[in-house]
Amino acid sequence: MGQSLQGKKIVVTGGSRGIGAAIVKHLSDEGAQVAFTYSSREESAQQVAHSLTGDGHFYIKMDISSENSVNEAVEHILEKWPEIDGVVNNAGITKDQLLIRMKAEDFDSVVNTNLRGTFLVTKAFTKSMMKARKGSIVNIVSIIGETGNAGQANYAASKAGTIAFAKSCALELASRNIRVNNVAPGYIGTEMTEVLSEDVKNKILEKVPMNKIGEGIDIANAVRFLLSDDSKYITGHTLDVNGGMHMN
Ligand code: NAP
Repeated sequence: MGQSLQGKKIVVTGGSRGIGAAIVKHLSDEGAQVAFTYSSREESAQQVAHSLTGDGHFYIKMDISSENSVNEAVEHILEKWPEIDGVVNNAGITKDQLLIRMKAEDFDSVVNTNLRGTFLVTKAFTKSMMKARKGSIVNIVSIIGETGNAGQANYAASKAGTIAFAKSCALELASRNIRVNNVAPGYIGTEMTEVLSEDVKNKILEKVPMNKIGEGIDIANAVRFLLSDDSKYITGHTLDVNGGMHMN
């Protein structure tokens, strides 16, 4: 256990399971106080909260596809913590389908949640970060946003959009000492990937030079680096964590 985030207050969206839960746990191990959000599964959020190191952590319901829900939750967090040090935009969904069968509503819902949701959360926290003249924002994007993928046109567009969104925010906020970066996971074992068939999983593994599936902690380590002062001169960057599957 290190102390690289000692005393920092960090917000993580979608911290109730999967990669988000691994990030929340790791940040608490590194000395941060963490406020994390869930959208539907309060029991999972409760379980994560019980597993954390140190105190001062809390969780709150937030649906990132709803502007009202985001603004209410952010207001609540800022009442408790008027100054925050970092935001991790992790919450995200998939609704996979081949283009010719993809319904417009499934395109909208993935882009609304992943891209628009990241915009809403980032915007809602930016004012207080600008006032404090500090902050690090980390978006969890995806290798698919860099390479594209058959059956994931909606998801790929949402993640590629987030990468470009982050670069624009990085440019706007650099003079206020706020950094904006992305972490792009490859194939990580979570509920999002559990639903894939063995056949699909094996086909993916064939494309991973390190020949193994990544773990939540691999993503959490990258996030911790981008939140910490160790990365104080890095902004607008996308850090690939993919076992060599794609190299920029
Ligand atoms: P997951 O296991 O499905 O967890 C998704 C998380 O997002 C949950 O905490 C969920 O909350 C939350 N969430 C879903 N919809 C939401 C909404 N509308 N508002 C707020 N929160 C919402 O997913 P994961 O695999 O950990 O993925 C986390 C992030 O990594 C996503 O952005 C994903 O695109 C990205 N990613 C994952 C992989 C992978 O291989 N797993 C690869 C590349 C990128 P509830 O539990 O309350 O529903």
